[in-house]
This record gives sequence, structure tokens and C-alpha cells, in this order.
Amino acid sequence: MGVRVIMRKAGQLYTKSRIPGVDYTVNQYVGCQFGCRYCYARFLTRWKDYGPWGSWVEVKENAPELARRHVKGNIAMSTVSDPYQPLEAELKLTRAVLRFMDKRNNLSILTKSPLVTRDIDILKEFMDVEAGLTLNTFSGREKRLFEPLTPLQRTRINALQRLHEEGLRTYAFISPIIPGITDVIAIIEETRGFADRYFFEVLNLKASGKNFREILRENYPESYNILTDDEKFAGFIGRLKEEIRKSQVKTNRIETHRLSSSDYGYDH
Ligand code: SF4
Repeated sequence: MGVRVIMRKAGQLYTKSRIPGVDYTVNQYVGCQFGCRYCYARFLTRWKDYGPWGSWVEVKENAPELARRHVKGNIAMSTVSDPYQPLEAELKLTRAVLRFMDKRNNLSILTKSPLVTRDIDILKEFMDVEAGLTLNTFSGREKRLFEPLTPLQRTRINALQRLHEEGLRTYAFISPIIPGITDVIAIIEETRGFADRYFFEVLNLKASGKNFREILRENYPESYNILTDDEKFAGFIGRLKEEIRKSQVKTNRIETHRLSSSDYGYDH
């Protein structure tokens, strides 16, 4: 399916953020061709009437000019798109933003694509930069159901290794963690030689949307039960934290997105 591309001029590129540890977000694209079925950014379709999530991408064509500012604090690229989605290979907008960005800015990039390795030369110019790959061990049936359009896990792991070998600081963003599906320890064992630190994020069931909850409930009922039962969920998180502790990797965050299930008002 072709993607609808909407070109527009933005007023600013650096947006103040309330994400813990992040002062500003940068999204030169809004919308994402990868169209992961659980993507939390799909809430944007409430305001942007372009069609289903994954079918459109807004391109801030003046983003490179807006990138020049020196900004104090931690900057995260990107939060409502993937900076290296397929369109980027042709448009090279992320590359232009990086080229123009003040190299004193503290930048953290997150992607699911090995295309990030194309920009190693520019990333090396930054005084404080880190690059992360999202990893989750989805393959076969669950990959087809959850994120059929993203690059294969192997290519992401290879990209992380390459970034590290080129001297860049790296992180593995293990997400979304779904009980019984995401093999956290397998990812750690495979990447510990070249991931400088780890972030762990359990699936945010509420933000993943009703359609994804249905997919999960129908196809992986045990995983769904754990995520929606407070007691089972607490047991799962306890075991997960213990496994991560034993693995002795550097991490400052295990995001569980947890209130109690009754706060979520699930329609189950
Ligand atoms: S790659 Fe990230 S931003 Fe893009 S659809 Fe998937 S989760 Fe959303």
C-alpha cells in the first residue's frame, strides 16, 4: 500500500516534553509507515484526519532550518514516528536535520531500522549522542500480527553492533514486553557485548488501542490475562525485575505503565 505524504511547514521542531528524562522531543516526521498495530502514537489519528495509522506521514519540510537551535537538556528523536522509516531513504530529511542540528545538543535517537547506520558519519560529530534500536524478538506469527512492516530483528541487532563498533554510545530499547512472547533475556544475551545500556518497557495495553487488545486477546489469551489481572501482572513484573537484576546489565528504567486494571476501564 502506498503511503500518503503530506508536506508542511512547521513553526518549531523542538517540543518541550513531559517524558521522564527527556526535555525536548524532535519529530521531523509525524506518522509512521511501519504502522505497528500497538503503536501508542496512533492517538494522533483523532486530530489528523488523513486515514488509518500507518497510511500517512506528515513531513516537516523546513525541519532542517529549525534544527539549528542550541537547546539545553536531553532531546529525544523521535516519539510519534520512526526517524528511519522507509520514506527517509528517499527524502533524507532526518539526515538533513542531523546535519544542521547544533552539535552541542544532547541527542538520543531511537529507531527500528538499520538505516540509522547510514548517518554514522554525522552522528559522530555530536558531542553527546546515543543511538538505540527497539528490539522485541517478534518473529513469525506474532511479527505478522503485531508489526508486519518493520525490519527484521536480526538486521536491528546488526545495526546496534555496527553503531557500537563505530564508537557511538548505544542502547537497546526492549519494547513492547509482552508476557510469554518477548524474550527479554535472549535479547540481553545477544546484545550485551555492544549495548551500553538497556531500557525496558512493558506493553502499554491501554495506549495500544482496542483493536490491538482484541488481537492479543484472541491470539494470545494467556498473555492478555497476565496483562489484565493485577495479581498475575504483579507476579510477572516481580519475575521480570529479578531476571533483569541477575543479568547485571546497566539500566535506569523498567517502564510498566501500570495503574490498576480497574483504572483502565478495559472493555473485557
Ligand atoms: S516504528 Fe514506532 S512510531 Fe512507527 S509505528 Fe512502530 S511503534 Fe509507532
